[in-house]
Amino acid sequence: MSVTETSRDELLCDCGCGHRWLVTRGSVRTSEGERRFIAIPTAHKDTRFWWMALEVEAGRWALTRTWIQEKNVNSQTVDLAISPLRGVVPFASDASAAMLRADVLAKPALKEALFAAHDLVIRHHPSIGAHLDPEMGRDFSFKAPDCVWSQPPKERSPRNQLNFAECGHRLFVRALFAIPVSDGAELRVGLWVEVSTEDFFELLKVWDDPAKYVAFRANGVVENSLALRGRDVRGSRATLAPRNADECLFFAAVDEPALDELLKTGVSVRDLDALVTEVRSVMTRQATPPSTAGAS
Ligand SMILES: [Zn+2]
Repeated sequence: MSVTETSRDELLCDCGCGHRWLVTRGSVRTSEGERRFIAIPTAHKDTRFWWMALEVEAGRWALTRTWIQEKNVNSQTVDLAISPLRGVVPFASDASAAMLRADVLAKPALKEALFAAHDLVIRHHPSIGAHLDPEMGRDFSFKAPDCVWSQPPKERSPRNQLNFAECGHRLFVRALFAIPVSDGAELRVGLWVEVSTEDFFELLKVWDDPAKYVAFRANGVVENSLALRGRDVRGSRATLAPRNADECLFFAAVDEPALDELLKTGVSVRDLDALVTEVRSVMTRQATPPSTAGAS
């Protein structure tokens, strides 16, 4: 690993939006030695930037802004005035620690070293994927309830689909467990919930009727095993409700107090990566077919 993170802090956005951004500091090992970096990922509506300062000479930092456009990573050098880095050490007390954009561009060798280090951080920093490509990094879903997953593929119901599933006489719907993140985004995990026969068929009936769909409510029991903050969600009773007519159901409440708190108060952006790592490891397990599947 050529990128080492040494600290994670939070910074309240100074635009008044109330979001708290991650401030990640560390160092990157390049062919020319170790360089320090400070990065602040921000997200306002659909505009997501990865702001970074890289120490290109002792005590002298060059600033960049990075974003994704049509799946390509773009980056450019910027002045301190437009970067949220102006609010953190050392720039908050010493603006001259940041090089002017014009001065960086006037030195081709320095600019080249800057972007070599920049690209290494982009490639290896644990938070960058989840930030710049949120659809890849913050949206997860179980493909099926655990009880369907444990069936040999040939025994699974052909009626199972993206949001509805059955396992013998048991009926399931998929709903999003959406955890608010302090930077204003959400970590979403699609979980399967066993509901009553009545609720299952009622949901099917109102699925394409927006007015009736938004009024739909159901209760059920989670049928996927996933540890969130050390607590398995499986077996929890949940209340499900749509947020709007265009998306699938969401968890509105959970009877397990710690999980309900996670659902309502969310996580600090500092803790997001640890949570994503936990979720991703479970998803990877379900993505791999059970070893008995091939024999059936
Ligand atoms: Zn803001």
